[in-house]
Amino acid sequence: MAILVQKFGGTSVANAEKIRRAAETALRAHQDGYQVVVVASARGKQTDELIADAKELNLAPPRREMDMLLTTGEQQTISLLATTLWGMGQKAISFTGQQAGFKTDDAYSKARILEIDSKRILEKLNDGYIVAVAGFQGVNAVGDITTLGRGGSDTSAVALAAALGAERCDIYTDVDGIYTADPRLYQKAVKIDTISYDEILELANLGAGVMHGRSIEVGKKYDVPIYVRSSVNDIPGTLITHEVPEMESILVSGATIQKDLTKITLIGVDHKPGNAARIFAHLAAKRVSVNDIIQTEVSPEKANLSFTVLHDDLDVARQAIADIRTEVHCQSVMVREDVAEISIVGVGMQSHYGVAETMFKALADKRINIDSITTSEIRISCLVDLEQAEKALVAVCDAFELDKPAVERQMK
Ligand code: ADP
Ligand code: ASP
Ligand code: MG
Repeated sequence: MAILVQKFGGTSVANAEKIRRAAETALRAHQDGYQVVVVASARGKQTDELIADAKELNLAPPRREMDMLLTTGEQQTISLLATTLWGMGQKAISFTGQQAGFKTDDAYSKARILEIDSKRILEKLNDGYIVAVAGFQGVNAVGDITTLGRGGSDTSAVALAAALGAERCDIYTDVDGIYTADPRLYQKAVKIDTISYDEILELANLGAGVMHGRSIEVGKKYDVPIYVRSSVNDIPGTLITHEVPEMESILVSGATIQKDLTKITLIGVDHKPGNAARIFAHLAAKRVSVNDIIQTEVSPEKANLSFTVLHDDLDVARQAIADIRTEVHCQSVMVREDVAEISIVGVGMQSHYGVAETMFKALADKRINIDSITTSEIRISCLVDLEQAEKALVAVCDAFELDKPAVERQMK
């Protein structure tokens, strides 16, 4: 019997009516002959509320304690889902991350899944149950509860689909699929029918909150088809798949905005072999994820080194830099929290000219200053002032006609 993993995000289980709808969706798939695993998030804004509760008591709550607290949100949802299914006459059982066999490393608040022992889930599926699994959580080697980072239920679902050899992982959410840009910020954005793992991975890591970046890495590695769809409207969503040839003829598939960034610049570090390695090894040891590194030579002896980190990592990054500052003879440190990154992504830009020029012109026409630029084969990112960021996103989307369906944007 084929297995289907269905993941429901917070908005899609926010109240009794929505939980009932999610349960009905799972039941329908079960009746269609699938063995069904439902992975669920905490209801509505519960995770944010729990974070606020903790911060009211301690502005820098310990990460271990936060994981203990936040995982309670998902636990409520799965129990309610299983309870609803029983009420519909369907056998169901809820499992926490630990009960579902999620083993992670010990990086509290951003743990990585090491393995999933899915024995218990399989037993229950074979017994005719629908299994509801708490997303976003696991357990480390000493038995402590960990979480996978904000939005991590997507990763729980896709990883579980991989472990179970599921036919597909359906991500039910509050939008109809993946759009060319966040429809809340660019109302004219259009839905994408199919997108490659590489493109959505870039978009997700650059701020497209619709999918957790790690989930895409896992999906790509284990060949899990991921289908992002609406939990409300029964209409086609977006299939995440390997590259298809037509994609190459689309210059830009999507644009993103990343607002929770801080730019850190180490001014006047010694321009000698090994310094960058020393600084980043130190940040990595403190588990700070570093994005977009730019080093510039300012004299034969000195260089400036800039990089961005997520706001969440700022305190740890500051401490790490304070520890290493004298060792690399850094003259001063500049921290800017009022920045945002606008990015465009598309596999087609590998083989076409003029993409960067169009993006920079779109920003210049709106008098938006570019702080720094970073690129990869399939993306271009510009750091801009936070207060101009949304205007910048709209300008860039318009310039690449992201309000038109992909067929109309195909190049000959
Ligand atoms: P869930 O709770 O279901 O996991 P999320 O809030 O994590 O839902 O993700 C869905 C949201 O992602 C949408 O409401 C939308 O505002 C946002 N989003 C950002 N970028 C995109 C995009 N490119 N396409 C669709 N939605 C996007
Ligand atoms: N509830 C968690 C969050 O809000 C995990 C998730 O929704 O994926 O980040
Ligand atoms: Mg999400």
